Amino acid sequence: MNKLYDLAGRKIFVAGHRGMVGAALVRTLEARGISPLVATREELDLERQEQTERWFANHRPQAVIIAAAQVGGIHANNSFPRDFLYRNMMIAANLIECAHRNNVEKLLYLGSSCIYPRNAPQPITEESLLTGKLEPTNEWYAIAKIAGIKLTQAYRRQFGCDYISLMPTNLYGLGDNYHPEHGHVIAGLLRRFHEAKLAGAPSVAIWGTGTPRREFLFVDDFAEGALHAMEHYTGADFMNVGCGEDITIAELAREIATVVGFKGELAFDTSKPDGTPRKLLDVSRMNALGWRAKTPLRAGLKAAYADFLAGGGRRYD
Ligand code: GDP
Repeated sequence: MNKLYDLAGRKIFVAGHRGMVGAALVRTLEARGISPLVATREELDLERQEQTERWFANHRPQAVIIAAAQVGGIHANNSFPRDFLYRNMMIAANLIECAHRNNVEKLLYLGSSCIYPRNAPQPITEESLLTGKLEPTNEWYAIAKIAGIKLTQAYRRQFGCDYISLMPTNLYGLGDNYHPEHGHVIAGLLRRFHEAKLAGAPSVAIWGTGTPRREFLFVDDFAEGALHAMEHYTGADFMNVGCGEDITIAELAREIATVVGFKGELAFDTSKPDGTPRKLLDVSRMNALGWRAKTPLRAGLKAAYADFLAGGGRRYD
């Protein structure tokens, strides 16, 4: 497939390189021999427009990938509504405006599968956006991410900017957030099963009923898809990125128990929320573009657990 835009030789800014997604993007670019621009939070606070403007004027990136975001699992979303709404809106608005002012050639914005209505028909197509009510446990994050997608479309329509958006499904892998409460389900359970194994605990708590269905994509597969879309896609329509299969949380928990080697019971804590009942993306657009997920769940979980054991990721923020 011919490339519409070649990342080789370009100055690419990966915003949010310390997060799980940003780090995977940097890894994937480096594997191609491309060394992207990055900025630590101390060097550049993306919530501050002036700082961001100065940084762009000094570094002049040609391509930008917005992987910077306030992210977290169901409990964090519920607990920090201001952070999820304000911080994500500011990051998107500052970066997209600065990209425009500095003639960035290509920009990729990352949304999330939680932007879709809670009761969207499954698998969820891109057309479901804004057709119904959002899942209340993550609407703060969803509203900010929808605004970000709309910004990429608005700059394209008003100025002809080549800005695109992708909607990743639930991601996991190296460099996840292993905070016991604030992270997503895979990181949370890897840690809980590991600690239960070490302590010889008879059971492990799983939040909710275990019946919600989720789709999980290994973050390095996602990074490949993101670079593929940067090079092979242009257009106002955003695209879903997922593996195309989902499992229940109970099945996932059993897989994680096997990978970790925990032999006790699963105890479902129904005082905790389930969140949306099902979230499976229709990924036919990305598949038609020539990208497909390749890491099976078991292999991805093993890689994530090895990373956890090696001290990867974050533990307390
Ligand atoms: P969501 O897709 O936005 O709901 O993100 P999460 O990854 O936080 O949660 C996915 C599902 O896993 C929800 O139904 C949670 O209730 C369930 N779950 C079970 N145990 C855990 C846990 O330890 N941490 C998190 N974050 N979710 C859990």
